[in-house]
Amino acid sequence: MADIVLSGLVKEFPGGVRALDKLDLTIADGEFFALLGPSGCGKTTLLRTIAGLEPPTDGTVHIGARDVTRLAPGARDVAMVFQDYALFPHMTVSENISYPLKVRRRPRSERSSRAAEVGAQLSLSTLLERRPAALSGGQQQRVALARAVAVRPAAFLFDEPLSNLDARLRLEARTFLKRLQRELAVTTVFVTHDQAEALALADRIAVMDAGRIRQVGTPREVFGRPANTFVANFIGSTPMNLIDGSVHDGGLSVAGALLPWKGPLEDGEKVVVGVRPEYLTLSTTDPGGPALRGTVSVAENLGTSALMSVAVGDELIGAVVPEEAEPAADTPVWLTPQPGRMLVYRASDGEL
Ligand code: ADP
Ligand code: MG
Repeated sequence: MADIVLSGLVKEFPGGVRALDKLDLTIADGEFFALLGPSGCGKTTLLRTIAGLEPPTDGTVHIGARDVTRLAPGARDVAMVFQDYALFPHMTVSENISYPLKVRRRPRSERSSRAAEVGAQLSLSTLLERRPAALSGGQQQRVALARAVAVRPAAFLFDEPLSNLDARLRLEARTFLKRLQRELAVTTVFVTHDQAEALALADRIAVMDAGRIRQVGTPREVFGRPANTFVANFIGSTPMNLIDGSVHDGGLSVAGALLPWKGPLEDGEKVVVGVRPEYLTLSTTDPGGPALRGTVSVAENLGTSALMSVAVGDELIGAVVPEEAEPAADTPVWLTPQPGRMLVYRASDGEL
């Protein structure tokens, strides 16, 4: 059981790439913590730095009360699961699971009983004598998890462990992983570029961009109140509308409409107004109140709903409507933001 404290972490690779840029982060004991960000933002580098596979250029890593910055990976008491599982092809499932115990020179009897115990926990009991080539992707993924669980580490480090599974298996594996982590209550750092996965699994999420952390919060916080336009753009299954505007007469002047708004900004200040497509009410008759006026451009089917692209002035604004309410192209429509659902960012720095 351990928290993980990262202070002032910098990682520079030869050639001048700064993969981590003075990063500070505290992950609580027992927490399921997601590191989320686009490809190349430094997630794997951060995880490898925690694991001890990558020495930092500057800064420190603490696990529990220990400063592990200079310790070898084996001395850190963490278990890492890689994207490609990294199973040994010539070993059985049981041998793969208990391999870390062999490295630690535990006796054979303990190794096989632990493999059986963890195998049962991960629904692998009937597969213990098979080799990895004879397993499905989902089963291989569980063997990789079992190997991490077998040593009872102080922390799990997962690098996109579900990304090689197809959509259906990925959903099953999510539930499985979440339940396992709850049972074991081991501090878990889970790297993903998939915002839906992070929202579904994590107690808290750190959103990363270019070696920095742009926001840390619960799924509800980063979804409901993204701290800046980067996070606003990155989180959500449909992209948030980000519309240029300005503060005007105590309201917001956006896309030809004056919307009521109260906030700390000065009259005339340029802003970016963020509103999720799910939080815009679309009507085909004039609702009477303040609304954005436009015409339907195209509709994208989302299954039980549709994402309408509405041309408002020279902006295209997304609004989600129930499938039966989908208006035809070129229909004039009005978009009204639901009360309290507008986020207003300063245009100068994109911060809330
Ligand atoms: P992510 O996992 O978020 O996709 P990475 O941590 O793999 O990002 O990479 C972050 C940045 O560091 C990228 O620009 C990548 O090209 C660079 N990088 C990663 N590993 C190395 C390396 N061994 N040598 C040089 N550059 C690297
Ligand atoms: Mg990566």
